[in-house]
Amino acid sequence: MTTFEVINPATEEVVRSVGLTSAEETDAAIARAHAAYPAWRAVAPGDRARLLRRFADAVDADIENLAKLEVANAGHTIGNARWEAGNVRDVLTYYSASPERLSGKQIPVPGGVNMTFHEPLGVVGVIVPWNFPMPIAGWGFAPALAAGNTVVLKPAELTPLTAIRLGELAREAGIPEDVFQVLPGKGSVVGQRFVDHPAVRKVVFTGSTEVGKQIMAGCAAQVKRVTLELGGKNANIVFADADLEKAAATAPYGVFDNAGQDCCARSLILVQASVYEKFMELLEPAVNGVVVGDPRLEMTEMGPLISAGHHAKVSSYVDDSAPVAFRGSAPLGPGYWFPPTVVTPPDLRHPLASDEIFGPVVAVVPFEEEADAVTMANHTEYGLSGSIWTRDVGRAFRVARGVEAGNLSVNSHSSVRYWTPFGGFKQSGLGRELGPDALDAFTETKNVFISTEE
Ligand code: NAP
Ligand code: MG
Repeated sequence: MTTFEVINPATEEVVRSVGLTSAEETDAAIARAHAAYPAWRAVAPGDRARLLRRFADAVDADIENLAKLEVANAGHTIGNARWEAGNVRDVLTYYSASPERLSGKQIPVPGGVNMTFHEPLGVVGVIVPWNFPMPIAGWGFAPALAAGNTVVLKPAELTPLTAIRLGELAREAGIPEDVFQVLPGKGSVVGQRFVDHPAVRKVVFTGSTEVGKQIMAGCAAQVKRVTLELGGKNANIVFADADLEKAAATAPYGVFDNAGQDCCARSLILVQASVYEKFMELLEPAVNGVVVGDPRLEMTEMGPLISAGHHAKVSSYVDDSAPVAFRGSAPLGPGYWFPPTVVTPPDLRHPLASDEIFGPVVAVVPFEEEADAVTMANHTEYGLSGSIWTRDVGRAFRVARGVEAGNLSVNSHSSVRYWTPFGGFKQSGLGRELGPDALDAFTETKNVFISTEE
């Protein structure tokens, strides 16, 4: 079996070696998931709910262990990693309430009774990126299992450790082995089999827009269902009437959290020209205040980038000619460290203002009028998230309705709550995860008419 060495991005030390699943092993796992499906969908709703709650309890009891695994594997700060493990628990608990509530409709028709059913799909393949290994896995597998599907899950090659542990916890909780299988391995091997294998009826993919397009094209061959959560270049719009102190104090955390490796990172700050100078004066100390360092320490706010390769990619955006306004600090020595960096590109065509850099780099660009801010926020092919800072309620609503993005926050940078829908406009994705309607993405509607005529 070929293996992959998992590297701690804060130290560059090997954490563990993980076996890579081959194409043949993937096919065998899919076949087992397919065989396990009839029994799993037949489990009584209350029993399936209980199994998911037990799974949530097992995750809850293992939060510290899961968090430490993520700190070592992905360099996430310990505080973030605990939140991420807790999010898996919460998502499982939330969807554990749905098996008994998966009701269809009775629709009035002449000559009989008409009913709809929400049928599970079969085997669902979940493909996860390296930036949020735990939450993104849970957003796929929890509603998929709740709806009665079986799941094969592929973590990113770089970050398999917490997914492997979640698979163990599911088995400890009593979820049958073939109902939820974790298959560490390469996207081009395991992920590709999810796309190509006819027994996989749906692919849930989170990752780059480039790979997402290939997945969608591949799934088209079988009209396979697909949910895509892709990249983002998200605007943080600061109006002159905003609480500028608060907007500037929170802006670094809206983009530098998880070292900027967040599809929702507000990596483009649009500031109304009349307060641009003042905002930059307030932003500099806020950026300098971001505590970058050993992710195991409670006080740390930002860890390293995920890998040497990703560090090289982020660095390529900030060469000697880059319009750097100011930078925070980062440790020297081993680890893929990159300091929080603020740049001022001349316009939105500049790659710093238009590319998803996926690192701790934020571009600040001024705008004149409200309409300009909306146009500028929409200049990108992406449409995932964004923030609006203003004290004017009417403006907050106008701009929130005007920005073409799936997740907007006013006077806040939050994008994700497990009980509200999450997903992208335009090339940021297709479909929605989380929230009350997520089960629709893991079921087909079946209509049945029963004649009552003699
Ligand atoms: P990626 O390169 O697209 O990889 C994502 C996943 O797809 C990995 O598990 C990868 O496996 C797998 N994969 C790669 N090629 C594949 C193929 N041909 N067929 C099937 N699977 C394949 O993305 P990444 O670099 O890991 O993650 C960063 C990106 O994810 C960013 O663009 C970010 O915006 C996006 N993201 C979006 C959201 C959202 O909810 N919208 C959330 C988080 C991240 P390997 O790891 O083995 O290559
Ligand atoms: Mg990749």
